[in-house]
Amino acid sequence: MKGSERMAARAARAIFLAVLVAAAAFLAFDGAFAQSDSAQSGRYPVATDVRLGGDLTETRLVLDLSRKIDLHAFTLADPYRVVVDIPEVVFRLPPKTGESGRGLIKAFRFGLMMEGGSRIVLDLAKPARVQKAFVMDAEAGDPARLVLDLVATDRASFLRQITLDEKALTQPTAVQPQPQAQSGDPRPLVVLDPGHGGIDTGTRAPSGQAEKDIVLDFAKRLRERIESAGKYRVLMTRSDDTYVPLGDRVDIARKANASLFVSIHADSLPHGEGDAQGATVYTLSNKASDAEAAQVAAMENRSDVVAGVDLKDEPDDVAGILIDLAQRETKAFSMQFAHKLVANLKGVARLHKEPLKSAGFRVLRDPDVPSVLVELGYVSNRDDLRLLMSDSWRDRTAESIAKAIDGYLSAHVASAPRSTD
Ligand SMILES: [Zn+2]
Repeated sequence: MKGSERMAARAARAIFLAVLVAAAAFLAFDGAFAQSDSAQSGRYPVATDVRLGGDLTETRLVLDLSRKIDLHAFTLADPYRVVVDIPEVVFRLPPKTGESGRGLIKAFRFGLMMEGGSRIVLDLAKPARVQKAFVMDAEAGDPARLVLDLVATDRASFLRQITLDEKALTQPTAVQPQPQAQSGDPRPLVVLDPGHGGIDTGTRAPSGQAEKDIVLDFAKRLRERIESAGKYRVLMTRSDDTYVPLGDRVDIARKANASLFVSIHADSLPHGEGDAQGATVYTLSNKASDAEAAQVAAMENRSDVVAGVDLKDEPDDVAGILIDLAQRETKAFSMQFAHKLVANLKGVARLHKEPLKSAGFRVLRDPDVPSVLVELGYVSNRDDLRLLMSDSWRDRTAESIAKAIDGYLSAHVASAPRSTD
């Protein structure tokens, strides 16, 4: 190679490198831009409108989407439901969408089921078959559309269809405990369980605040309090707006070998059913301590129905009896913690007139982990709601629950480590 050729080659290489660097910089910039956009909606299809048509014989649901997606529809019985699983979608639908329906669709819900997956659950007025379920491409100025056609059927046919659907039925998988839970850290573990999440909003205040948001924020504050004291580890059954099936919440506590499980909820009374107020602490019992406790448990246990999870595999009665035998000691511990919790809350939070109750909550059924469920207050009561939405109330109450947890664990775990671990 002559000297001049070598220089030309070097120059070419320099230009090539410069172009490469510029391209990399451009790509990096583009990447950063795309990421901030994805927080809005760039990454996910957006649902912008929904329409229902038809009657009790045939009903059509149409959902407008920013782009075409895949879908999988199946049915569930008792109560009759149609579940439509789709990739994660940003729902930008008018408030109160789905609260009432039309024809075969009594009402419907939609939301995040797990990371990457959204779900629409339709409550049916009577048994119905999914005749068609498809998504049309956007064309000629029209958005992409998800179309679901339902046709009335009888119970026997409905149940037959479920058997056919069964193989295709996908259940959300258990949330993996965060890595910190499996570390060699010997400190006792507290599992905090913010109720509901994702498609399951829980109860709602008349002014619109959702239980799932209130309890998640509260649980995060509580986690912060416990962690900053440094004596215990904390694991949350959910730390964002995703749905976790009730059984998985219990499994998370058991698998992580938790010393205590605290489920956090907020209550409401239907309009016209009095005006209860204050916090209540619940422990597990097959027999509810009163009618209101039974009603609260029934509402909280509906979570899986709301989210479209199939319940038929839960052998409720048998499990109930077996668990009952194994659970006597755990129950005694749960009760001791519940008493401590009520005593601590007395100073800072308004308490229900009977603040300590028991009922058959699904999330309290771990035979090994002392478990309580706290209803922080009633979103249906104006004064309770004001407190529930207040930062200072949340902080004070989280502080008092953290103290109760410390009081209980110092007495039961630190002095008597679980030798079976
Ligand atoms: Zn709840």
